[in-house]
Amino acid sequence: MRKIFLAFLLVAFIYPSAFAQNKNLPNIVVLATGGTIAGTGASATGSSYTAGKVRIEEMIDAVPNIRELANLKGEQTTNVGSQDMSVEVWLILANRINELLAKDDVDGIVITHGTDTQEETAFFLNLTVKSEKPVVLVSAMRSSTALSADGPLNLYNGVAVAASPKAKGKGVLVVINDAILSAHSVKKMLTTPVHAFMSPEHGQLGTANFGLVEFFHEPHGLHTINSQFSVVGVKSLPRVDIIYGCADVSTDLIDLMVKAGAKGIVIAGVGDGNINKGTLAAAKKATKKGTHIVRASRIPVGAVLIHGEVVDTDYGTVASDELSPQKARIVLMLALQQNKNISREELQELMINY
Ligand code: ASP
Repeated sequence: MRKIFLAFLLVAFIYPSAFAQNKNLPNIVVLATGGTIAGTGASATGSSYTAGKVRIEEMIDAVPNIRELANLKGEQTTNVGSQDMSVEVWLILANRINELLAKDDVDGIVITHGTDTQEETAFFLNLTVKSEKPVVLVSAMRSSTALSADGPLNLYNGVAVAASPKAKGKGVLVVINDAILSAHSVKKMLTTPVHAFMSPEHGQLGTANFGLVEFFHEPHGLHTINSQFSVVGVKSLPRVDIIYGCADVSTDLIDLMVKAGAKGIVIAGVGDGNINKGTLAAAKKATKKGTHIVRASRIPVGAVLIHGEVVDTDYGTVASDELSPQKARIVLMLALQQNKNISREELQELMINY
């Protein structure tokens, strides 16, 4: 944390907010966090590579004509594979973005990121950035040294979206493989191909085609200036763990997590957020003692219904509605940070509204 913060201070010092280039172009700050887009491998045709190797200046310089879209300034927030993304970095990013977007001479933000947890970072920022200016995450499924690397075009399109007035007020966006996807609805659906990201419930918001930006839909859920969550001065969030449901899932996991310090638990249940009898009994005990338990689903597409096979009021649980387990976890963490005594009913509302 300390290292990240010092690096961040150094970067902020070296790069004051001056954009000394073309006055007719928008000013975009690119915050780099690593990922495959910044990855390198020994062979252009091998599947093996290391994420988070290339620094942001080099990444920008590798994209032809990108400086014709906007005046760009890079900041290296961190440089990790997004499997190592953390709440600490989320808090640094959210606060830095709010600081940058409050300036008149910053028109938008692009964040380079790994694909593995990209939807989580996007959703976290969707709930904590307080601006209508565009915030766009870009990533890549192929490393920068791979044959047909997808990162350069994704970065080009991401900058085009961040520079577009059409992207204002749309919440945090993910731009990949020519698609513009909302932070609320985007999901990584496939492990390795370039068309890995989709919004199966709501569809993509628009397209970015060699920098040509079109929007077709509005995003779902409350976001940015309409979000009630703020992380100003927040240094950490309450621990919330996820249990992955399966046949005969161990029934002592809830107790073990609470003992380890979890303040809330999300269950990626089977089907419509279902849980075996033993886990349901443990959930009832835990909610009575004040630990919030959210029922989400391990199924990638579709909502978890309030009062499906599980009647939530009988067990003190909350249904995640359309939120995946990892996004429901973010709402639960932010809700507990804002009010550790939040009621089951209030939490249920949040799951539906965000
Ligand atoms: N593990 C990588 C990451 O999330 C994968 C990627 O970026 O595609 O950083």
